[in-house]
Amino acid sequence: MKKKIAIIGAGISGLSLAYYLKKAAVDFTLFEQSSHIGGVIKSHKNKGFIYESGPNTGTLSNIETVELFEDLSKDFQLVLADEAAKKRLILRDNHWHALPSGPISGIKTPLFSLRDKLKLLTEPFIKKGDNPMESIADMVKRRMGESFLDYAIDPFISGIYAGDPNTLVTKYALPKLYQLEQNYGSFIGGAIKKSKEPKSEREKKVSKKIFSAQNGLSDIVNALVTNIGIEHIKLNSTIKVKRNPNGEYHLGETNYTHIISTVNAKELPAIFPFLKSTQLAKIENLNYAKVAEIALGFDKWEGMDINAFGGLIPSKENKHILGILFMSSLFKGRAPKNGALISCFVGGTKNKDLVDIGKDELMEIVKPELELLLGIKQFNPSITEVFYHNNAIAQYESSTEDRLLNISTLEKEYPNIYMAGSIRDGVGMADRIKQAKDIAETIIEV
Ligand SMILES: Cc1cc2nc3c(=O)[nH]c(=O)nc-3n(C[C@H](O)[C@H](O)[C@H](O)COP(=O)(O)OP(=O)(O)OC[C@H]3O[C@@H](n4cnc5c(N)ncnc54)[C@H](O)[C@@H]3O)c2cc1C
Repeated sequence: MKKKIAIIGAGISGLSLAYYLKKAAVDFTLFEQSSHIGGVIKSHKNKGFIYESGPNTGTLSNIETVELFEDLSKDFQLVLADEAAKKRLILRDNHWHALPSGPISGIKTPLFSLRDKLKLLTEPFIKKGDNPMESIADMVKRRMGESFLDYAIDPFISGIYAGDPNTLVTKYALPKLYQLEQNYGSFIGGAIKKSKEPKSEREKKVSKKIFSAQNGLSDIVNALVTNIGIEHIKLNSTIKVKRNPNGEYHLGETNYTHIISTVNAKELPAIFPFLKSTQLAKIENLNYAKVAEIALGFDKWEGMDINAFGGLIPSKENKHILGILFMSSLFKGRAPKNGALISCFVGGTKNKDLVDIGKDELMEIVKPELELLLGIKQFNPSITEVFYHNNAIAQYESSTEDRLLNISTLEKEYPNIYMAGSIRDGVGMADRIKQAKDIAETIIEV
């Protein structure tokens, strides 16, 4: 039977999948409930600033992302972050300290205790953990010590998940770190051994480089749409999949051989009314971090030196702000000359109430912290925009094992339905692109 695919959701997941199917000449339609293409990705241009209301940057952390951007290179200009991106600041006692980048700075840094610095020397000899459901916090305390948890991992987890290392499970939330311990018995030893392993030409293209696009991440969305063809994208669509007794899927009057969902877990019952609530309960219960993102554009920057990636604030420091990105230091053209564009995040799983308050009240809370932390004497941004995300980042907590099991059971029971998006396989844009490529390959091959 000729394949006909319905993709649900026009974020980077759905768009990348549509791109790969189009390339393989497979028939598909991409359905989106809103009038916006790109999902959470949205770039804005105003008063000489370019800023984002969703993700700000991504990492070239897998070959699928690198190769997708190579393929799209005639349609958008990829930009890589300035060298400044290597400097990442962590707050301790109201002072910023650069996250150590090598052994000397690691010894000198006041971020970690002497006891834990000494403990780190013994890390390669600490026995391998045997609890696959161990939280990130427990794993880090066991192998590295409490101060590394408080002043490296906790802020790092805020930066990626806006989450809590006590509830996130390492195996699912930081699978590469988990595998280092499982495969090599040590983070340090494993990282050294891995760096020495021979790499193919393709593998060498993968890096920690930080990307965006010339006019913001929406350029990537536009490049994908150019290649997919706008006629294949149906906006403002309310989706309800029907299933015939003979196993065919219908959307409206049209039959589809495959249905791929890339949406948030909470949307699944409305899209798949024929799935039992007991089957969906353990998928739908996925917890999401709420986040408010504040874009601030200053025509003339008179605060501290912000030539760095940004600053992350450990929970121990008891601030409202989770982290700040110095976007105009990373990419050219984000702010007028001598100006600055910063992106500031509040909320997360630990401070979710902050995401429920209005812009003026939120700014009353955030402004004094920004003045203190960034040395701003006159807080007079010409851009102050607050973007609220109620289901921002999926939290891979202890429910993940059951969720993955249920997804796999459903996919077996209902062949050619795929439950994708950030409900599994990682929360970053690069993870979404990799997942889309994997699914496309499965569909194309079968
Ligand atoms: C504030 C924020 C900051 C982030 N920062 C970063 C970062 O710095 N780096 C990074 O790599 N990642 C970051 N992420 C994560 C990254 O943006 C996401 O992983 C990725 O963009 C998600 O893409 P997606 O297509 O899976 O989902 P989405 O972008 O959420 O797209 C899903 C789409 O499905 C649509 N939809 C929902 N329900 C239905 C329905 N019933 N029918 C039809 N369509 C429906 C939605 O309208 C939406 O367009 C951030 C995310 C947020 C929210």
